[in-house]
Amino acid sequence: MNKLTSSPTAAAESLCLSCGLCCNGVLFKDVELREGDNAEQLESIGLPLERLKKKIRFPQPCAALCGDNRCRIYADRPVRCRQFECALLKEVNAGHVEMSAALRIVRTARERAGKVQRRLAELGDTDTALALSIRFRRTKRRVESGALDEETAETFSRLTLAVHDLNLLLRDSFFLHE
Ligand code: SF4
Ligand code: SF4
Repeated sequence: MNKLTSSPTAAAESLCLSCGLCCNGVLFKDVELREGDNAEQLESIGLPLERLKKKIRFPQPCAALCGDNRCRIYADRPVRCRQFECALLKEVNAGHVEMSAALRIVRTARERAGKVQRRLAELGDTDTALALSIRFRRTKRRVESGALDEETAETFSRLTLAVHDLNLLLRDSFFLHE
């Protein structure tokens, strides 16, 4: 979600521009606005906001994410995006993880996310406008609600394994353990 912090280090820039996982629907399914955000202004620059009771959110994959992992509204991005740093970025900035190792982790995570997307597509879900977790849950419901032929059952079990592998890496390397 964050592409870069307000004064990006070279490490952050290089890592985040190779990654994009916090904006592209792999880490999160949505982002909540916070105090200090101007909802009307964010809508006017292209963020599609959803209002649910007192919360205002925008879905991921983010409408402001460009193909090169840059944020199209970087200068005006929401508060949460300015504040967010994943665990991996924090570790790199603290000097605990080498940049080369961090880039390998990002590459692996993106490969695993790609594998999940391919398995979803094999099961008929090609809706890349939705977050990966939503697509997986929806596909799981659909598959489990019908009688499974052998091939579908096999593909679904490969999908479940791919999601498990991805989630392990996200949990170990990207989510903060406080
Ligand atoms: S507004 Fe920018 S930084 Fe925030 S989630 Fe979207 S692309 Fe990422
Ligand atoms: S998940 Fe971490 S490394 Fe990847 S873009 Fe977001 S802050 Fe940067």
